[in-house]
Amino acid sequence: MLTSVTAGPYTVRGVSVGGVYTSIHVPELGVLFDTGISPRSFGAIDTILLSHGHADHVGALPALLGIRALHGKTKPPRVVMPKEIVEDLSTALAALTKLQRWPLDIEALGMLPGEELALRPDLHVRAVRTFHPVPSLAYLLVRRVAKLRPELHGMTGPEIAARKRAGEDITDIEDRLELAYATDTLISVLDHSPELLDARVLIMECTFLDERKSLEAARAGCHIHLDEIIERADRFKNEHIVLMHVSQLYRTDEVAHILDRRVPPALRKRIIPFVPADGHWPG
Ligand SMILES: [Zn+2]
Ligand SMILES: [Zn+2]
Repeated sequence: MLTSVTAGPYTVRGVSVGGVYTSIHVPELGVLFDTGISPRSFGAIDTILLSHGHADHVGALPALLGIRALHGKTKPPRVVMPKEIVEDLSTALAALTKLQRWPLDIEALGMLPGEELALRPDLHVRAVRTFHPVPSLAYLLVRRVAKLRPELHGMTGPEIAARKRAGEDITDIEDRLELAYATDTLISVLDHSPELLDARVLIMECTFLDERKSLEAARAGCHIHLDEIIERADRFKNEHIVLMHVSQLYRTDEVAHILDRRVPPALRKRIIPFVPADGHWPG
């Protein structure tokens, strides 16, 4: 049922069918992007990042909360989301709590574009503005590492320790843009937030792949068309680009062939299509 691909140091596993359901887990970072579907094995996840409130991205959150309870999880998960939808989602979960006669609790964390939140001491999430008909966000996961200051390179351990004891700040903080997740948006997200193009791994929607959906129609629905990625082929600096949220207009076995035929080789070799290997869209 789950598709799993490897993008550099990261595993990207889950299900994504454009407009139907999208849930993507990156176990090395401990985060789940969106809850359009709730596979059994996602019950152990404690941090969820929601891109927006459309049903194909949040519809299975109540089911996931139930599965977590089966896993013996008693602490509500952290659920990061656009600030504008915190109230509506809380109201929806309150209604479902009443229906279940059982609490569907979350720790709701609303974010605005540009804000940053610490998920772990060494891992932060930065909210990025996306362009969709409802409040929506992309997320950039930033690893914050302490590096020895360059002027101290070449010193011995005891010398450095002595400096530290004397109260000197011996490290610089460096932010590494590890992984970005951008879905359900116009391509202009890349023009407004070019830092997405610098992330080591970019997980991005590419809902439409060829003339079966026109560029105009893709834009009218606020989705990305492959034509727009090809136009910007030289701008992607990412090591790996995972293309997901592909429409079921396309058969799973033709997606890679369309990419081979249409995308310039220097970009194509870094693209990993997120489609099932067994030839069928899940479900
Ligand atoms: Zn969607
Ligand atoms: Zn949407």
